[in-house]
Amino acid sequence: MEAFDYTKKYCTVGAGCSGLAAAKNLKAHQIPCDVIEAEDDVGGNWYYGKPRSSVYRSTHLISSKPLTEYTDFPMPAHYPDYPSHAQVWEYLRSYAKTFGLYESIEFNTAVERIEKAGGFWEVTLNNNQTRRELFTAPAAAIITCRNISLQYRVSVHGQKISQLEQ
Ligand SMILES: Cc1cc2nc3c(=O)[nH]c(=O)nc-3n(C[C@H](O)[C@H](O)[C@H](O)COP(=O)(O)OP(=O)(O)OC[C@H]3O[C@@H](n4cnc5c(N)ncnc54)[C@H](O)[C@@H]3O)c2cc1C
Repeated sequence: MEAFDYTKKYCTVGAGCSGLAAAKNLKAHQIPCDVIEAEDDVGGNWYYGKPRSSVYRSTHLISSKPLTEYTDFPMPAHYPDYPSHAQVWEYLRSYAKTFGLYESIEFNTAVERIEKAGGFWEVTLNNNQTRRELFTAPAAAIITCRNISLQYRVSVHGQKISQLEQ
């Protein structure tokens, strides 16, 4: 199996619960990573009222607290078995604060396009920036969005770039 070159920089698209876990674990292993988040805070779907959130006012988790929480970051003891969306959002914000993730997230910035370009991935942002993230195969951008608004989908395990089905 080809060895990863962990000195290359990764790009995590989205700071919902998946993106936060990716960012936290890359940071723990000193693997450099840009985290790009379109909204002005973390939480993704649980950031109630935002365009990319699908929770409604009365939403609670339907998965139980012990089955939903990060294994290394329990939800607060006073939370009920099925926390509200506001409690889930606070929990995710607390996770980001505890593991020092806020400073590494670029908020209010959307990824518009990701394309393979030679030995790296070209990541185009909505602020007219194009990053040349130094990915090499088999590494790839880590895309963590439940409902990503990108033109292309990049396979994590290979080189495949396919049209995103909306
Ligand atoms: C009503 C409802 C109830 C649910 N209940 C549960 C439950 O009880 N238990 C459970 O496990 N799951 C539940 N889910 C599933 C839920 O999707 C996951 O819990 C979780 O939010 C998915 O996290 P994620 O990080 O993958 O995606 P998201 O939470 O969607 O986060 C994606 C992030 O990416 C950002 N983003 C998107 N596109 C771009 C872009 N182009 N550039 C930059 N940033 C971008 C978004 O702003 C967002 O912050 C529920 C979902 C819904 C809709």
